[in-house]
Amino acid sequence: MPDENSADAFDVVIAGGAVMGSSIAYHLAKLGEGRLSILVVEQDPSYQRSASALSAGSIRQQFSTAINIDISLHGIAFLRDIDRHLGLDGEKVDISLKEGGYLYLATGEGAPLLGEINALQNARGADILLHDRADLNSRFPWLAAGDLAAGSWGRTGEGWFDGYGLMQAFRRKARVLGVAYRQGKVADVQSAGNRIRSVILADGSRIACGALVNTCGASGARSLSTAMGFPIPVFAKKRSVFSFACPTDLPGFPLLIDTSGVWVRPEGRDFIAGYSPDDGDEVEHPADFEVDWPLFEDYIWPALAARVPAFEQLRPGRAWAGHYDMCLIDHNALVGRLPDLANGYLAAGFSGHGLQQSPAVGRGIAELILHGEYRSLDLAPLGCHRLASGEPLLERNVI
Ligand SMILES: Cc1cc2nc3c(=O)[nH]c(=O)nc-3n(C[C@H](O)[C@H](O)[C@H](O)COP(=O)(O)OP(=O)(O)OC[C@H]3O[C@@H](n4cnc5c(N)ncnc54)[C@H](O)[C@@H]3O)c2cc1C
Repeated sequence: MPDENSADAFDVVIAGGAVMGSSIAYHLAKLGEGRLSILVVEQDPSYQRSASALSAGSIRQQFSTAINIDISLHGIAFLRDIDRHLGLDGEKVDISLKEGGYLYLATGEGAPLLGEINALQNARGADILLHDRADLNSRFPWLAAGDLAAGSWGRTGEGWFDGYGLMQAFRRKARVLGVAYRQGKVADVQSAGNRIRSVILADGSRIACGALVNTCGASGARSLSTAMGFPIPVFAKKRSVFSFACPTDLPGFPLLIDTSGVWVRPEGRDFIAGYSPDDGDEVEHPADFEVDWPLFEDYIWPALAARVPAFEQLRPGRAWAGHYDMCLIDHNALVGRLPDLANGYLAAGFSGHGLQQSPAVGRGIAELILHGEYRSLDLAPLGCHRLASGEPLLERNVI
């Protein structure tokens, strides 16, 4: 319970109000059935620089770890049923979900890994087909497949959607269920023993809280976690997204992950593409939102044209840059209660898969706060114990 003597007091304060903060707020309000007072503190309600507003908005089950597969299976079920979850008074929630599938390509060297993790994905309930080169040629005739040995394609359950729309739908529904949102930056915490008693905003105001959840993403999760007494190796990594038009019609184009590491998918009548450069470990430029144009000219376009000859004629369009919040030990999220704190929680380090993980993580953190345990999907493999034990949860399918 929060400090009763404080002017401002909430059962739960959530720092960071983008997709993760708003999903947790929505799930807490819904599962708590109005028993909890909940405040979301967001430093920039325009969300201009939040990853949630700058993402590629895609969802896949083609991960190599059971927990990530299970989280995304819940994610797609939630997105398919979003009207029931987040619709207001029977209204439809338009997030333009398109299940076009991911297509991972492999040469002879990479094919055994595709086969190995395909078995795991399908055993857990995903719907991923393994293709040899002949299958690839017949299903995707626009592909230059001469050097390929295999490809794995999500027949259902994978694709893309309006990520910004998902964030706003969580936020809107949370507010309707009684969650308060306030503009401000959570700058510090006050603790007594193993409990956080209140948060201090940058303007000096104090808000008492029964629990604090840190969902501050690339711009703030690490510093707030340090203030909570638990430093985390989560760093901001710039990623540029480039849009382009293609004069040739390419029917059935999925989200393609090329052997070069370049990804590309349809976006309306056009396409978007990107690539994660190897930018070293502890390097970050959190305030740098300049698009890396040479990356497109020098690497992405040539790779695209080699794989899909029609892309030689592409017409570059606009581009933007955002930041992954990358957990350096294994590129997987850190989710759960912080060690040594009775009431401090964290959901950060999602790299390039936080939007699709937001439904399951929001529900999980809400269960943890309300019941002291995960009741639906056990998110313990994403816990912070990985930092202390030095046992990473290695994900081999990182984009
Ligand atoms: C280019 C790009 C492409 C991506 N593509 C995909 C994709 O295809 N699929 C997918 O699932 N994911 C994708 N992601 C990842 C996904 O966007 C993120 O993992 C997800 O949006 C993280 O959500 P979040 O709420 O944790 O963080 P954010 O969206 O970054 O939000 C954090 C919020 O906290 C606020 N904040 C920070 N510090 C404070 C503070 N001290 N006090 C108060 N507020 C604070 C910020 O203003 C921000 O609004 C992509 C990301 C990028 C950058």
